[in-house]
Amino acid sequence: MNLAMAERGALRAQSHLKDKVSLVTGSTSGIGLGIARALAGAGAAVVLNGFGKPEEIKATQEAIGADFGVPVAYSGADMSKPDSIAEMVQMTLDKFGRLDVLVNNAGIQHVAPLHEFPTAKWDAIIAINLSSAFHTTRLALPSMIANKWGRIINVASAHGLVGSAFKSAYVAAKHGMLGLTKVTALEIAEIGITCNAICPGYVYTPLVVAQIEGQAKSHGIPREQVIRDVLLAQQPNKRFATTDELGDIAVFLASEAAASITGAAIPVDGGWTAH
Ligand code: NAD
Repeated sequence: MNLAMAERGALRAQSHLKDKVSLVTGSTSGIGLGIARALAGAGAAVVLNGFGKPEEIKATQEAIGADFGVPVAYSGADMSKPDSIAEMVQMTLDKFGRLDVLVNNAGIQHVAPLHEFPTAKWDAIIAINLSSAFHTTRLALPSMIANKWGRIINVASAHGLVGSAFKSAYVAAKHGMLGLTKVTALEIAEIGITCNAICPGYVYTPLVVAQIEGQAKSHGIPREQVIRDVLLAQQPNKRFATTDELGDIAVFLASEAAASITGAAIPVDGGWTAH
């Protein structure tokens, strides 16, 4: 057995989500992809969602299937469109017969002063970062209720707990997501289903790389200075969290050890919101 095979065997051995079906929105990239890989590593079938080049998405699907030996499906549903979201959830139920772990992760960002904030960007951010989670949750719950087990994990943000200038729509959507998390948790608390929010500070993903490039250009300063003095200015540990760390936290929240954690907003922000 070569090393790669041994590593895959070890990964397959963590199988507490075997026979469970997961759906991760916005999982063709960044945090969502890290969470999808981690859930697959714990044995769950995975439905990927998000945008990207078809050949790259196909390669991602095949890589997760090969690495972890689980079925991997894909939906290109647009999280700004309720009909498209309904088709994605129905596809999952038709294909796998159940939906056990729902991760609401898809999100976009736009930075502008409030009085100049484009109204179309406001609408898109509220739709993708907040309303999509309402739609996926309402559509996924009947399957979880029927099975008396479920995990809903909302990827919010430190910006669900505190504000930052120029991010009105994003901060409003993420605060809203924490409200949705609490109400969802309260409604399903007695039937074996939990709903929690993960609140990352900065995680090194394409979304953050774009912000680094943008701020370096607008302030006329080097990337390294943007990272330390602008992006990580509020983050006391001065490091980006990784997508693997976020994946492991999601797997923990989906485990039996986390059965009594519900309605919580879990900061993963290097101490940012401890200020
Ligand atoms: P990313 O840009 O790497 O990934 C975003 C994913 O969402 C991609 O798969 C993209 O295709 C998908 N997506 C975007 N619009 C979509 C739409 N309309 N329909 C379906 N899919 C869509 O971003 P990321 O950094 O991995 O962010 C993921 C989540 O984590 C977001 O909700 C973001 O707000 C949150 N978050 C990120 C950070 C960070 O530092 N990166 C910090 C806190 C919270």
